[in-house]
Amino acid sequence: MKVVKASARPTKLAPAANFTGTVMQDEVVVGVAPSRMRATSVSFTPGARTAWHSHPVGQTLYVLYGVGRVQKKGEPPIVISPGDTVFIPPDVVHWHGAAPDRLMIHLAMSENTDAGGGTVWMEKVTDAEYATPPVEP
Ligand code: MN
Repeated sequence: MKVVKASARPTKLAPAANFTGTVMQDEVVVGVAPSRMRATSVSFTPGARTAWHSHPVGQTLYVLYGVGRVQKKGEPPIVISPGDTVFIPPDVVHWHGAAPDRLMIHLAMSENTDAGGGTVWMEKVTDAEYATPPVEP
């Protein structure tokens, strides 16, 4: 076993191609075969969010801090709060991010396919889509 110190892994800026606003990523685990595990702590500044996307093996989100949103295509956004777990089935188109006026940090957990793919990226979430009034879960 080994301990990887936080100071050994600098925080990365999430790629602008797949995110709106400022989003920071801290790698937690990238599994070595036969593991396909991947976990990343993702910090969204107010208003920041992913683009629309899906995961071939699904994804689990665990909210660590703040106030956030998650939306499945065709349904209203849902408010997510610390301690909430979101289970996203395979191939469901969705986005996740912060509330307009609050930070949100979640642990994003998923598994890659045999081919190594974990996320299928699509178009950005428009301001109009993001402004859709959210519902409580
Ligand atoms: Mn996702």
